Amino acid sequence: MAAATIDDAVAFFVSFFDAEHDAVKANLTGARAFPQLNKKLQSMIGSGVYYERRRIDVAELKEFGGKAYENSVKALAARPLLLVTEHDYGKRKIYCAYAEDMRQLGKRVSYAMAFWAIPRWKIVAVYWACASCGGSGKYEGVACGDCLPTVRMKGIPVKSGKGWHNQAGERKLMGHITANVVGEPTAVRKLVRPTEPACAEHFDSLETTATRKTTPTRKPKASRKSSSRKKEAK
Ligand SMILES: [Zn+2]
Repeated sequence: MAAATIDDAVAFFVSFFDAEHDAVKANLTGARAFPQLNKKLQSMIGSGVYYERRRIDVAELKEFGGKAYENSVKALAARPLLLVTEHDYGKRKIYCAYAEDMRQLGKRVSYAMAFWAIPRWKIVAVYWACASCGGSGKYEGVACGDCLPTVRMKGIPVKSGKGWHNQAGERKLMGHITANVVGEPTAVRKLVRPTEPACAEHFDSLETTATRKTTPTRKPKASRKSSSRKKEAK
């Protein structure tokens, strides 16, 4: 098997967000296709990572959500992908997708969620960003008060909020408190620049040229097993 590239990761995350949108929409509308669509979504998620599995009580949502519920279903779209980073993870590679909420891009663009995946492609962790600091852990130069750890560290002044909160899967991939198990990115794909200053600062700080030249760059493929030279083969 050829080694995975960051382009493969981009293609995986885009198809994952499509599957997520289809399953979540079916769930929110009570569609009969939900079990089938969710099976496809879950096939892209590692075992032990609990994400979007539960069937929602639509009648209850409609009753309590009213118009706001209807509007949120209407506005639902596949999560825009903003950035993908590649990291060393033991002897393997791991990839992180920074994404917006599940709606079309608006004027304000910020990191909302981060999804981590390993090649042969499974999601291994899901994190959500503190809405106040966009995952940076800082607000106007000081520790973000909205994501400070609840447990005081022994005598050590806390300089930063957590920024990112683990929702499912591996817990040591991001956040500013625990020692992360991954280091600086070894490759980066920038897709959409966030407008929120803290996110934009992170985005701009990443070196695009960190992309390794040793692996051939390929366009993301839609089909699974086709050769990359389909057009030329004609
Ligand atoms: Zn925060």
